[in-house]
Amino acid sequence: MPELPEVEALSAFLSERLSGRVIARVQPVAISALKTYDPPVTALEGRTVKAVRRRGKFLDIEAEGLHLVVHLARAGWLRWKDALPVEPPRPGAKNPLALRVRLAGGAGDGFDLTEAGTKKGLAVHVVRDPAEVPGVARLGPDPLDPGFGLEDFAALLRGDRRRLKGVLRDQSVLAGVGNAYSDEVLHAARMSPYKLASSLTEEETARLYEALGDTLRDAVERSRGLAAGELKAEKKLGLRVHGRTGQPCPVCGDTVREVSFADSSLQYCPTCQTGGKPLADRRLSRLLK
Ligand SMILES: [Zn+2]
Repeated sequence: MPELPEVEALSAFLSERLSGRVIARVQPVAISALKTYDPPVTALEGRTVKAVRRRGKFLDIEAEGLHLVVHLARAGWLRWKDALPVEPPRPGAKNPLALRVRLAGGAGDGFDLTEAGTKKGLAVHVVRDPAEVPGVARLGPDPLDPGFGLEDFAALLRGDRRRLKGVLRDQSVLAGVGNAYSDEVLHAARMSPYKLASSLTEEETARLYEALGDTLRDAVERSRGLAAGELKAEKKLGLRVHGRTGQPCPVCGDTVREVSFADSSLQYCPTCQTGGKPLADRRLSRLLK
């Protein structure tokens, strides 16, 4: 799933290509991806793109008073095409294409929003104000906002009795951090994913705040200037523990371990994060009871 660094890079990539261009056609293919109907997607046609921004993990393409707000979800992606096919796209269960946007002028360039797999989560909204999208309205502060300081971070954690893993990826607490970067941030901070947010000392809060900023800035830096098609591979390369079960931790050499949940998993290094002790796999322990 694309998270803050990838969406940031995608937004920069699109900003360069879309700003000042006129949208010629918007063609929804997977109707289920379309979450709004008023104004219709076709209302974007003929409008000039003024800005492309990231809001948490959402992409916001602003075109003269309207916003095309996209959430790529788990398996969604954006593919830039220098020349889109002329024939209209055909809907079908096997077609990963969800929405096509063609620009006016040029060689018929534009982009496709695609989604692989059967679990459909990609969401497209056309709104007058991004805050009309519930997921955007709920967003907490952006960890890369220059105004987001240690005190703001401490205030978010204070009194939160949930585990750090859950808190960091809660979009209403922090905008843009998901499953992968929460693993990476916790590894960089040398903290257990199961640690309770409310239990952090001042020193630990500062360490986690540093790790959060450093990990995200580093990932944004590596993604900068990459084309949309290169971002996924770059993300994978930069991850130290996430998705690396069984491989050696790049910091200490211990084996990266995993805890599985119903629909996701987390990875961590026992030596770096949990005093060498493996975390209980809650799914497994439930089976053994
Ligand atoms: Zn380690």
